Amino acid sequence: MSQKEDCIFCQIAKGEMPANIVYQDEIVTAFRDINPVAPSHILIIPNVHIRSANDLSKQFKSEASRMLTVVPKIAIQEGISESGYRLIMNTGPDGNQVVHHAHLHMIGGQKMKHGIG
Ligand code: 5GP
Ligand code: ZN
Repeated sequence: MSQKEDCIFCQIAKGEMPANIVYQDEIVTAFRDINPVAPSHILIIPNVHIRSANDLSKQFKSEASRMLTVVPKIAIQEGISESGYRLIMNTGPDGNQVVHHAHLHMIGGQKMKHGIG
């Protein structure tokens, strides 16, 4: 399934729903989180509907890989390349995944709390 009609992130990737897009190509879209937890909070998503990290199988090798290889480019754009940032992919109920279209949170612009969890 390449698009899910009621999925907000599919709609953002297709340009059908407004978002503050910071990067887009034929495979991924990156945009500012509507409710940022840090000065720089970007969501990187595959343009096709992939439910979660659990579905990032070989079929979606190019999506999985591009979601990471755009990170350095966005970090430079955001001016956080040297100061650093945190990458998180909430998955499933225990991961508190709310939007069921896989997305990588890229969070920076401030010193993060020590550790995760
Ligand atoms: P998660 O599923 O990883 O828990 O979080 C989903 C993230 O998507 C949240 O940080 C939330 O603020 C963000 N979000 C939810 N709906 C929208 C939206 O319509 N636009 C944007 N830009 N971000 C959204
Ligand atoms: Zn979707």
